[in-house]
Amino acid sequence: MIKPGATMQSISYPQGHVLLRKLKGEIPFIDRGEGIYLYDKSGKKYIDASGGAFVTSIGHGQKEVIEKITAQMSKVSYVNGRHFATEVSESLASKLAAKAPKGLDRVYFLSSGSEAIEAAIKFARQYFFCKGLNEKKKIIAQIPSYHGNTIFALSASGRPQYKKYFSPFVTETLRIEAPMKYRCPVAGYEDAGSKYYLDKLEALILAEGPESVACILLEPVGGSSTGGACPPRKYLKGVQALCEKYEIFCIADEVLVGVGRTGYFFASEKDQFVPDIIVLAKGLNGGYAPLSAMITKTEHVDVLARESAGFLHAQTFVNNPLGCAAGDAVVDFIERHKLVENARELGGYFQEQLSRELSSLSIVGNVTGRGLLAGVEFVKDKTSKAPFKKSAMIYDKVQNILFGMGLVTWGNGAHVDGENGDIVLLAPPLIVDKKQVDVIVETFKAGVKKLESTL
Ligand code: PLP
Repeated sequence: MIKPGATMQSISYPQGHVLLRKLKGEIPFIDRGEGIYLYDKSGKKYIDASGGAFVTSIGHGQKEVIEKITAQMSKVSYVNGRHFATEVSESLASKLAAKAPKGLDRVYFLSSGSEAIEAAIKFARQYFFCKGLNEKKKIIAQIPSYHGNTIFALSASGRPQYKKYFSPFVTETLRIEAPMKYRCPVAGYEDAGSKYYLDKLEALILAEGPESVACILLEPVGGSSTGGACPPRKYLKGVQALCEKYEIFCIADEVLVGVGRTGYFFASEKDQFVPDIIVLAKGLNGGYAPLSAMITKTEHVDVLARESAGFLHAQTFVNNPLGCAAGDAVVDFIERHKLVENARELGGYFQEQLSRELSSLSIVGNVTGRGLLAGVEFVKDKTSKAPFKKSAMIYDKVQNILFGMGLVTWGNGAHVDGENGDIVLLAPPLIVDKKQVDVIVETFKAGVKKLESTL
């Protein structure tokens, strides 16, 4: 039991009353954040080099954003979207519509990535139902992939290890391989690889029957599951063409990679990919208030409007002004400080430096990513690309060493075969500068070398 007013520098389960995210090990209490840095209660300074869970797009403590959010709070923090509209949600929606791929101009705001993914899948289903295509109900998603932790989003996620306890609830999802250059089974990723992945997708659609498939869900650039893997250049356009051919909704999960992270406001932009729905979350709110967005086309919403009273995915916080004020201020900040440009230009340097400094290390198999998102894959054998056994806990160890050195990163496992595989990702806030990039890369290298010396 923690006494009220007690000052603690760290906590571990079963201390306190919060159900902590980690039930093993100490978690430091954080005191404050400033720019790319965090300071804990003991005074230790960290570089938030993964932006928490890829959230902190504009850095911590940005006064101009805080002022705009508090200004909205002093007007009104909450109204129900069924009773009232707000100028701030219209303002943010019109900014997103102006930046989005052609035709994506209708925005539904929610609070988390998982909710918006669920909303996107349900939107596709309601759309086909309203069109009289009731048979369209199957979902195709990639493996590995991550789309969230609520049951439907978890069902769509290609992360078998997350489903262990929940299999009685999880619904069936059809699977295609997520493109990963490092682990592509055919030579010539850009052309032969693209054809390989697209042929498999088309074969699956035909085997299942196009009339039964409602949507394809994919990450235009891989997130935590693939370590920032980028698809072959023609892949996304190819998926779009198949979706148009077989009347299937294409949903781009940009929860992690959207809002400038990859050097493009929308990650889909780079390959001129125009999906039916884009989902945003993390970078959109920058950590200032919970907010996610499902963006689709007015022509799709028209189908629902003709046949039903509305989109049947009501939640208490839909289109809420507080979250939208945060998103609106974050998007303005990104524009004013040219952060998408920074992610593109400095991102190039970041990727080069990481590859140059890390590739020669004996346990680093691959360094990949786009813009200010990078993933480092660790392998036991660089020639065969064989992963370490899960029990070696490599990504955990790398993360822990780096955390001790004051570098916050994001580790993930099991991408190779559902059990083994080690990736550690970096996604510094988009305000990062060249000197800070150098420190991040140097610290990362030193941490990996430290682990290498113990193996
Ligand atoms: N989609 C992707 C690609 C994600 O990375 C995540 C979260 O990490 C989600 C969806 C789920 O978002 P949330 O955790 O906000 O529910």
